[in-house]
Amino acid sequence: WFITFEGIDGAGKSTQVDRMCERLRESSVRVTRTREPGGTPIGDRIRGLLLDPASSMHLVTEAYLYAASRAEHVRSVIRPGLADGALVISDRFVEASMAYQAEGELTVGRIAKLNEIALDGLEPDLTILIDLPVVRARERLMRTGNAADRLERRDDLYFERVRGRLLQIAAAHPNRVFVFDGEMDPAELHEAIWRQVKTRVGIIRE
Ligand code: C5P
Repeated sequence: WFITFEGIDGAGKSTQVDRMCERLRESSVRVTRTREPGGTPIGDRIRGLLLDPASSMHLVTEAYLYAASRAEHVRSVIRPGLADGALVISDRFVEASMAYQAEGELTVGRIAKLNEIALDGLEPDLTILIDLPVVRARERLMRTGNAADRLERRDDLYFERVRGRLLQIAAAHPNRVFVFDGEMDPAELHEAIWRQVKTRVGIIRE
């Protein structure tokens, strides 16, 4: 099983990934937790480049770097993890690129095409999208002191477009992508996501 979590910055995604991994381990499910960009030594170096405020690059270059990180991630972490029988959970995957990198000349369709070779046919079995209005997400990032490096270069309108694209992706894949309300209390949100995961993943026993 390959499960991905998506959402705009500040939606509460990583907290929910933490809780889900913990819960699965408590249920004796073998879990490999990973993330994008990153997840591999070369991917983490690419992540460093991408997140460095001093890096200035064209949107197309950026899209290729995300795809490059993903190519390595698919081949050296996700597929081997799945082959080994682990349940693999990734904090972001290709849908993040379709939402974040699809700007300007890069349509969602072109981002999908650019990622085709990187993905090598791999698709998540289940995607959890945590949705939250941009103003609320921004408030949260401000509160947690997480805002500076993430939001400086990007305005609310950009995040509105990212959020809109994530919701469109969910609407286009109703059997795989499930939307959850990020305004819920974290513990309740976890329970809601847990119910969805349990329904899909037959191996879980409590
Ligand atoms: O999910 P995480 O917070 O680790 O992501 C790091 C940063 O990379 C975030 O600010 C996110 O907006 C950005 N990102 C992106 N495009 C992606 C994945 C992440 O712009 N495809």
